[in-house]
Amino acid sequence: METPKTIIQVSHLSKQFGDLVVLRDVNFEVRQGEVISIIGPSGTGKSTLLRALNMLEPPTSCEIVVNGEKITAKGYPLHLLRLKIGMVFQSFNLFEHMTVLENIIDAPMQLLNLTEAQAKEEAMALLKQVGMAQKTDAYPSELSGGQKQRVAIARALAMHPDVILFDEPTSALDPTMVGEVLSVIRQLAKSGLTMLIVTHEMRFARDVSTRIFFMNEGVIWEDGSPEQIFEHPIHSATKAFVQRIQKLVYEIDTDDYDFLQIHTGFNQFCLKYNIADKAELAWSLTQEMLFTHMRTFRPLTLRLTHAELSGVTALDFMVEHLDHSPLNNAARDILRPQIKELIEEPTTRGFRVKLIMPDMF
Ligand code: ADP
Ligand code: MG
Repeated sequence: METPKTIIQVSHLSKQFGDLVVLRDVNFEVRQGEVISIIGPSGTGKSTLLRALNMLEPPTSCEIVVNGEKITAKGYPLHLLRLKIGMVFQSFNLFEHMTVLENIIDAPMQLLNLTEAQAKEEAMALLKQVGMAQKTDAYPSELSGGQKQRVAIARALAMHPDVILFDEPTSALDPTMVGEVLSVIRQLAKSGLTMLIVTHEMRFARDVSTRIFFMNEGVIWEDGSPEQIFEHPIHSATKAFVQRIQKLVYEIDTDDYDFLQIHTGFNQFCLKYNIADKAELAWSLTQEMLFTHMRTFRPLTLRLTHAELSGVTALDFMVEHLDHSPLNNAARDILRPQIKELIEEPTTRGFRVKLIMPDMF
């Protein structure tokens, strides 16, 4: 099979706002028909990346080639770019003073030189496709959020762009309306349209995408198939993000440490993540580790983690510059019956003992 052609080629994309570096040397290419979901913590530059791609936020430095044309070339006409790259925003951005139909035909008439009749005919077909054919004469203020977003999608499609960028298209919606918008996007994905979608809807990202970018700290930290990113992430930051790993960390330097604070912290953490039944065992294991098995190891980093997706809760005890396990056989024998799994492993900075907590009923 022939490799589909490259639609977007991004080289050395960087973006700074004053001193704040938001994108650091991002490189990637997108091929025709790819559906790429961009996931990652907030504030990592996902929106800025999309906005840089269509020059809403001109990059500090970069070369971007879209369908063979270098759009970052000096003097490149931005109205041509709008033909190549469509965008759907979190906040819809419809023209409030225009009807649904007028919102859709406006740009094609101005930029594609369609007659009003041609533009209307096509707009009607698109509105039908997104399930909004009955609302052609309504104004945006008369529509629900989900309906507005479907109109915004039809408006983007009306320009026949080479690629459509979606920036969290469902995050401003009432939960009951997320489904109708996602199902329109799913349909588009099946039709072979090339799309980049910033989303927090993990299940959707996993089902609909041909590829996932995990963004973190201004770079594409990991780029892979949905299976790789969700099942076998290479980087621990990716894993923590996709498994929604919550953590509570304490640096214990001396024995004057306020241990009561840990007890309270555990209780609150467990309550928050619906594992209140694990709080007491976590605390008693921690006391046992701190005051018996690892009594002489200070400073020590204690971490309580809970993966919301898999339900796995664990306690980590980490000591820096240590090249062997702090546990002896007696300690192992005492610990094992109380927990699901005992892991003793070297880390890049020292040594870690991990106690995987048993499932509670
Ligand atoms: P994300 O979409 O991943 O949540 P953004 O791309 O919106 O992240 O923002 C990344 C960082 O850039 C944030 O720290 C944000 O405050 C900053 N930022 C975004 N847009 C601007 C702007 N126009 N001026 C200054 N800082 C900005
Ligand atoms: Mg954003």
